[in-house]
Amino acid sequence: MTVDAPITQDVVTIPRKLPEGGKINLVGQTREQLRETLIQLGTKEKQAKMRVGQIWQWIYQWGKRDFADMTNLSKALRADLAEHCVIEIPEMITKQVSEDGTRKYLVRIAGGHEVEVVYIPETDRGTLCISSQVGCTLTCSFCHTGTQKLVRNLTSAEIIGQVMMARDDLDEWPVPGTRSDDRTRLLSNIVLMGMGEPLYNFENVRDAMKIAMDPEGIQLSRRRITLSTSGIVPEIIRTADEIGCLLAVSFHATTDEVRDKLVPINKKWNIEALLEALRAYPRLSNSERITFEYVMLDRVNDSKEDAHRLVKLIKGIPAKINLIPFNEWPGAPYKRSSNNRIHTFADIIHDAGYASPIRRPRGEDIMAACGQLKSATERSRKSRKQIEAEAGISS
Ligand code: SAH
Ligand code: SF4
Repeated sequence: MTVDAPITQDVVTIPRKLPEGGKINLVGQTREQLRETLIQLGTKEKQAKMRVGQIWQWIYQWGKRDFADMTNLSKALRADLAEHCVIEIPEMITKQVSEDGTRKYLVRIAGGHEVEVVYIPETDRGTLCISSQVGCTLTCSFCHTGTQKLVRNLTSAEIIGQVMMARDDLDEWPVPGTRSDDRTRLLSNIVLMGMGEPLYNFENVRDAMKIAMDPEGIQLSRRRITLSTSGIVPEIIRTADEIGCLLAVSFHATTDEVRDKLVPINKKWNIEALLEALRAYPRLSNSERITFEYVMLDRVNDSKEDAHRLVKLIKGIPAKINLIPFNEWPGAPYKRSSNNRIHTFADIIHDAGYASPIRRPRGEDIMAACGQLKSATERSRKSRKQIEAEAGISS
């Protein structure tokens, strides 16, 4: 018997309290929204664009949170802003640092909910893995986040706020007058691979990533941002058009039968529909390949036949296959593939001409690895039986 996992978007939006005194949070507003806010506060239309640029730079380029620091604004405007607006980002509750330097932050957002953010330092880059939702409505059977019941979309402020919070923690706001350089930054890359399905929170993710890429904002190149999706086909094309970042797809299986169990959204958009959308992804080129994520689950999706089928399926798509050894979590219904099986699989793909890096698990000692994230308030899990039933592997 298979149990149909929910495959529709069913997001509970918890009413959010406005900041203290009902002030407007400027963080996460688009340039257009900020312009409207300023006009409402009495800024003249023909000055508004310039003021937007100035405030924008103070917030995102220099990391200022106090209007009093915005010295190129008039005293009157600074006072008005302080009276009606705030610059507010999520609050860091805890920080854990792994033996390998990975940092995991627990961050509190409005309503008392929590999300996790992970910073992964490497020799040539530093990657921040951010969340787009509290929990996830999709129920991929190998993913810890998918067992969390409570779900709400993060606002654009809460999404870009995770990046700002990490820059605070890394003490990486440049000094006004200097220019920062992508290549030497501690936080040089962003991946939307934390909690949640980013394409089920499209507008907020888009607005936040626009700020991350803005040359007067956080100033990251769009090629340093990767959005990972489980395969929300209609939104994939919008990602190219409206965000323009790199794309990763949680592929994980080579037959619909297996993918239906691992990534239940496959029942709505199957492998063929997904591949068709990826083939049509604009800008697809060797320098902007699509990353196919493939979690290695012992004897579920890791055979030689799977590897050969995968190569056949992705033929013609500029791709890189990222093999992720399964990160186990308490009660998980799968085991990690053996190193032998992973290497055999990787070799087949490599021999077919694709890069097939095996992702080194990071921050395992602090449960910071991909798919292990789940807010501390929601650690009480579904029972093992329930998880197995949903995965269609009950006896
Ligand atoms: N919801 C999005 C992004 C977040 S998950 C998505 O599914 O793509 C980021 C990646 O981690 C995805 O490829 C996901 O399938 C993978 N993942 C989830 N749980 C995992 C686990 N326990 N071990 C290894 N990878 C996992
Ligand atoms: Fe959601 Fe991604 Fe986890 Fe699937 S793998 S449950 S889409 S976070």
